[in-house]
Amino acid sequence: MRLLVTGGCGFIGTNFIRYQLNVHPQTTIVNLDKLTYAGNPQNLTDIQQAHGGTRYFFEKADIADAAAVQAVIEKYSPDAVLNFAAESHVDRSISDPAPFVTTNVLGTQVLMQAARTAGIKRFVHISTDEVYGSLLPHEAPFTESNPLLPNSPYSASKAGADLMVRAFVETYGFPAIITRCSNNYGPYQFPEKLIPLMLGKAWENAPLPVYGDGTNVRDWIHVEDHCRGIDLALRKGRDGAVYNFGGNAERTNLDVVRAILRLTGKPESLISFVKDRPGHDRRYAMDFTLAGDELGYAPVHDFETGLADTLAWYEKHTTWLENVKSGAYLEFMSRWYGDR
Ligand code: NAD
Repeated sequence: MRLLVTGGCGFIGTNFIRYQLNVHPQTTIVNLDKLTYAGNPQNLTDIQQAHGGTRYFFEKADIADAAAVQAVIEKYSPDAVLNFAAESHVDRSISDPAPFVTTNVLGTQVLMQAARTAGIKRFVHISTDEVYGSLLPHEAPFTESNPLLPNSPYSASKAGADLMVRAFVETYGFPAIITRCSNNYGPYQFPEKLIPLMLGKAWENAPLPVYGDGTNVRDWIHVEDHCRGIDLALRKGRDGAVYNFGGNAERTNLDVVRAILRLTGKPESLISFVKDRPGHDRRYAMDFTLAGDELGYAPVHDFETGLADTLAWYEKHTTWLENVKSGAYLEFMSRWYGDR
């Protein structure tokens, strides 16, 4: 199977490429990535060395650039397309929503149009629980039939993309699947996101900034569980289906930050409550019964062990973390892939 993966230099895309190459020896990957600030090709240096030109190919391109996307699809004739590429950070979407609409909504439509023209038989669109909006503490977890009620420019752009995927399925019979997932954690996550951000601060003995009162709840899923779910959707999913994936690990932000302090042996006095994020959703939780029934999906990582393993990974890869934090990876990118 030859897969076109977009956004493969980001956190989840990197883990997905590694998962595919490990688990499916016959699979070949083409990674199409624009290399925004969040795309780090150093994540895949070892993959490039081991499989570059045989099982792994990289193309620097923008999913919103129709000619570039068409050229990549014509060059490699993939069997399936998986769309991970996105602007993904809620805080950035609040200060500047425009790139979120361009990449997440327009980019998804451009990519689907090119895939449809080429007669691609499977398109998996990676989405998020945030499209469902926010839950109250007593409310049941989101199912796939919950209405889309996004509250941030990020989640609105992801919901816009999901609706465009739905429209392609309904209008053209386009063979797409949408996967929606809760908060991921694991190796290679860009340190603007909660867990690597807090870990970096704890190591520096710097204040750990927690929004509001820290009681917002997220369901945490190990990125490897997410990648397995996406792989199951790719290989066993039903055209037109939407599948939720979760980790069975609802935790408040404060729970997560306290766990990081415990694991790093740092005091809770480092916690610093800061002004809440505007429109901050209170709670997300996922009902993934459908993915269990139709795909045989179940998360295998327990959160406390997975978090300890993740911290151990960052501890072993301090150079990776430092390169990202200092921006040294940007120099690497411009040397290897030209100006961005
Ligand atoms: P990320 O920000 O780490 O990576 C995004 C990648 O997309 C980067 O490599 C970036 O260079 C690339 N990219 C951005 N714009 C592009 C464009 N126009 N053309 C081509 N490439 C482009 O994101 P992530 O955390 O890996 O998330 C991947 C996907 O999973 C996203 O669609 C996100 O919405 C979704 N998701 C993420 C989470 C999470 O917890 N991280 C949870 C649910 C769903």
